[in-house]
Amino acid sequence: MLNSKKSELAKINKKIPQLLQKYNLCNNCLARQFLSDRKKILSIKTNSECYLCNNIFSNTKQLIEKAITLAKNLEFRTFLVGTQVPREMLTREEAVWDYNGIENTESIKTELNRLNGRILEKKLKKKVDFANYDLLILLDFINNNVKVQITPIYIYGHYLKLSRELSQTKWPCDCNGKGCEKCNFKGKMYTSVEDLVGYPVIAESSGIGSKFHGAGREDVNARMLGNGRAFILEISEPKKRKLDLRKLEKTINSKHKKLIQVKNLAFCKKSHVELLKSVRLEKVYRAIARAGRNLTKEDLAEIMKLNIINQNTPTRVLHRRADKERMRSIKSITGRLLGKKKLELIIAAEAGTYIKELINGDNGRTKPSVAEILNTNVACVELDVIKIKDGFLDELMAG
Ligand SMILES: [Zn+2]
Ligand SMILES: [Zn+2]
Repeated sequence: MLNSKKSELAKINKKIPQLLQKYNLCNNCLARQFLSDRKKILSIKTNSECYLCNNIFSNTKQLIEKAITLAKNLEFRTFLVGTQVPREMLTREEAVWDYNGIENTESIKTELNRLNGRILEKKLKKKVDFANYDLLILLDFINNNVKVQITPIYIYGHYLKLSRELSQTKWPCDCNGKGCEKCNFKGKMYTSVEDLVGYPVIAESSGIGSKFHGAGREDVNARMLGNGRAFILEISEPKKRKLDLRKLEKTINSKHKKLIQVKNLAFCKKSHVELLKSVRLEKVYRAIARAGRNLTKEDLAEIMKLNIINQNTPTRVLHRRADKERMRSIKSITGRLLGKKKLELIIAAEAGTYIKELINGDNGRTKPSVAEILNTNVACVELDVIKIKDGFLDELMAG
């Protein structure tokens, strides 16, 4: 480096000549070691072979062009740049820090991210957004390559399930989709709400897959009526993000009129998934039950006294849930006779109450139960969720 430049730099910070004596550094790598003098150092042009970065800062053009080509076919508003550099480069940076001190510095990756982020902002006419980026552009200086990661989109809504032969999420067969006798060569046990809602959105967004997050779930043979159940549909790698959700709603609803309906689709954030999963919602059910003996009005009066119950994990879910006893509150229960042995029950219950077992008693594992009160076998023959008290959710999801 020319002596005149060295002396100019010395005026900026007297530690600079000492550092340059030890390591040859380009302007960027030098300026990063004296961040408060950054602008002044960068204004003095030096052309040193850089010990630290091998002059990476003047060799970004190719990767930037690759990034632009990749991003061109994608729909996004915001992005973030990430950088991968050889491990040895970071080791050399640490050597410089050990010699010169680490206060008042930043890492080479931070600088590359920032500078290339600015270049790409101009070229792509999009904004860098650290917290909410639609696209992560990874500049890989190790393999001289660029990768892009597309942030999923999240769509919040409510669904009604009108069929008793529909699962909420995908239910693959043991044959892993190959098709066998058990699944009638369909590869799955049931069509799912996830499929019926997800496929049209995947197609519209050119995504590669979906995840379905429900605010709880109902059994395959239970319908979900009333205002529906809240869900978030997550679409992986959408190439298009500006979706006409009203139009999608119509597409989904007209295609599968007898199976499902979706309502009020709206974009939401990733953080809302956890929120949705954590809420505990009181629900109202309509059950049709059949008793082992003729029923009277007095029997109904006894059933309506049900209040607090103790429920052990139902036998039918013991294979996937721990065996625990829980106390559950039945907020209200009313009944009417539909036949000599047949009755309709409207039950409002705390989140997590197993309704089939509340009715049949699950061999004494739920106490008290409708079966215990009637002192006979009682089977739940039909079950619908007719209301979920989730009025506060819409507001939370909009925030
Ligand atoms: Zn350098
Ligand atoms: Zn199968």
